[in-house]
Amino acid sequence: MTDLSGRVALVTGGTRGIGLATAKALAEAGATVVLTGRDESRAKEAAAAASASAGLALDVTDAKAVSTLVRGVAKEHGKLDIVVANAGIMEDALLGMIKEDLVDTTLSTNVAGTLHTVQAAARAMMRKKTGAIVVLASIVGEYGSAGQTVYAASKAAVANIARSAAKELGRSGIRVNAVAPGVIDTDLTAGLAEDAKADNIARTPLARLGAAEDVAKAIRFLVSDEASFVTGQVLGVDGGLVL
Ligand code: NAD
Repeated sequence: MTDLSGRVALVTGGTRGIGLATAKALAEAGATVVLTGRDESRAKEAAAAASASAGLALDVTDAKAVSTLVRGVAKEHGKLDIVVANAGIMEDALLGMIKEDLVDTTLSTNVAGTLHTVQAAARAMMRKKTGAIVVLASIVGEYGSAGQTVYAASKAAVANIARSAAKELGRSGIRVNAVAPGVIDTDLTAGLAEDAKADNIARTPLARLGAAEDVAKAIRFLVSDEASFVTGQVLGVDGGLVL
């Protein structure tokens, strides 16, 4: 079992799905975990469910709020070792149907939100010259997907936040990696038609949808010392699916 005792971790969008499973997995490995959600009472409930030390309200599109919260967590615990920039949204639209609103919300949440979180994490970790950051890319960002141009573009950007930040932060002892999940059974994919799910399963060598816990375990590996020489990588967690 990966040992994260003594580590302080922050997970954004931790109220459900992959974020909640990650908060649980990090806490089980011994880390002190703070999770965030857009709604304070939901965040507190999720923190209790994940055995996290706190659940705080945070909208990742608000750069100032992200910076203040991350600084506050690092101050309260004396350091910040692990940050998982998980908060994200997905809305499908064919090219001809894409509205400006969808572009704004998707890019401000997935791209700017991840960027704010990585920036704030790097500032907090810089003082101790150690830390591990994981961002949530997607298989769709690697291969593209019809009807998901905006989401795919946002997740390609997220993968490149990891690759670029890793280059910039390596000499400060900070590792940055991404996971690129395939189709994971969470609220995000709950709206997928049954035949689309069946089609994905048929094309997945491991012949099932992923579970949030599958992704959480990969994230736990990447933030642990088991991955001490791994940085700037985008790790597929997709059962072998190629889109
Ligand atoms: P989910 O919808 O179950 O959870 C997303 C979380 O992000 C929620 O807690 C939500 O409240 C939070 N969030 C959304 N916008 C936010 C904002 N502005 N500020 C703060 N929090 C915000 O989705 P999930 O499946 O658990 O996805 C988690 C991450 O993994 C996302 O970035 C998603 O794009 C990515 N991902 C998911 C899949 C999948 O198949 N489920 C595949 C690839 C990538």
